[in-house]
Amino acid sequence: MTTQPLTSPFPAEYMVTEFDALGYSRRCMVGTAVLVGGYALAIAQIIPPIALPLMVLLVLPRWMINVHELLHIYDEQQLNRFICLMGVSPVPLSVISLSYGEIRTQHFAHHAAPAHASDPDLYHIQGNWGQAIFNAFTSPEQSALRWINRHGLTPQLAFDLAIKLMVLVALAVLGGSLFIWFWLSLRLVYGLGDLAFFRLVHHQRGEYGTFSLPWPLWAVQLSTLVFGATVTNATLNHDVHHQNPYLAARALPAAAIAHNGGMAAD
Ligand SMILES: [Zn+2]
Ligand SMILES: [Zn+2]
Repeated sequence: MTTQPLTSPFPAEYMVTEFDALGYSRRCMVGTAVLVGGYALAIAQIIPPIALPLMVLLVLPRWMINVHELLHIYDEQQLNRFICLMGVSPVPLSVISLSYGEIRTQHFAHHAAPAHASDPDLYHIQGNWGQAIFNAFTSPEQSALRWINRHGLTPQLAFDLAIKLMVLVALAVLGGSLFIWFWLSLRLVYGLGDLAFFRLVHHQRGEYGTFSLPWPLWAVQLSTLVFGATVTNATLNHDVHHQNPYLAARALPAAAIAHNGGMAAD
């Protein structure tokens, strides 16, 4: 678990707990069941194909944030093998993508120097909008290739990539043309989520840093309705998360208010 400071400016109930962690991993598994179940139902023509992108829109951002929250709590030995294998998405986005252990190491390097030269995520934060969009939409492959280039391909990662290849082939064979729409939906939603969670919160008004997203109330409410509170809280208060990674996502809005009121240490 991310180390908690001996003295925290926040109440103890703001800290992330084992109970939070179990909720994050449970919600990942429920989301996977919804997505894979929905794909099977669409193949069986029980639900229309248009239901698939809607399911992806509801499930994938939740998976992404739940996995992000888990990164700050569990290492790969403490988390179930399925989430470790799949990493950034419950259905492989690519045959070339990282597993949980590498994503965790990379995320901690991002926290150590966000949007700086040593940040492994800088490539999908920096540049003009065209570059940022291209890099966000190709980040599963780029992050994996950059990692392998730097650290090499371990037997475990190679094994995980082989499994992802088999899963993708099986899903494509089972779904036919439906798979193309399913996979494109996953890539589209993932790319937009990546833009929100890296570019929008680390590059604003020409400056690099770590920022909040001060959305109007209606947008916060709409986001909470569609994507859930964890996605909304963790994305909009990314600055508070970076300063206090031991805080649970549920507590970030209150921590942000306390921080702006001068309660929290800088
Ligand atoms: Zn983080
Ligand atoms: Zn960040």
